[in-house]
Amino acid sequence: MHHTDPHCIFCKIAAGDIPATLAYQDDQCVAFHDIHPKAPVHLLVIPRRHIASLLEVEAADAPLLGHLLAVAARLAREHGLTAGYKTQINTGHAGGQEVFHLHIHVLGQPQ
Ligand code: 5GP
Ligand code: ZN
Repeated sequence: MHHTDPHCIFCKIAAGDIPATLAYQDDQCVAFHDIHPKAPVHLLVIPRRHIASLLEVEAADAPLLGHLLAVAARLAREHGLTAGYKTQINTGHAGGQEVFHLHIHVLGQPQ
């Protein structure tokens, strides 16, 4: 498995090579606003490392996946989604995934 994929749009966003409206970043992950929001707040949380989807995840990735969820929860709170929100992970062609770099959607309406 490669660390980054030179053809992957989300790897390019994580590297700062193409622009996105960032909401958060740290050494493991980046969060940014979806370019076609389906809710008043629509964030995407991605690992810096290129993992194509949950289909490629291994047991050793559990700490990273936990971190992504914790970041999603904190960003939801910070964006006013205090009454609740939806999270979604589309996985594989059969799961409706369009961008093959693992991402967590965070969708909601600020209170
Ligand atoms: P998927 O169906 O793979 O779960 O969703 C991919 C999401 O990425 C879509 O909601 C789409 O609007 C978003 N997206 C695709 N390309 C870009 C981009 O270049 N920048 C941003 N910010 N979002 C993107
Ligand atoms: Zn990637």
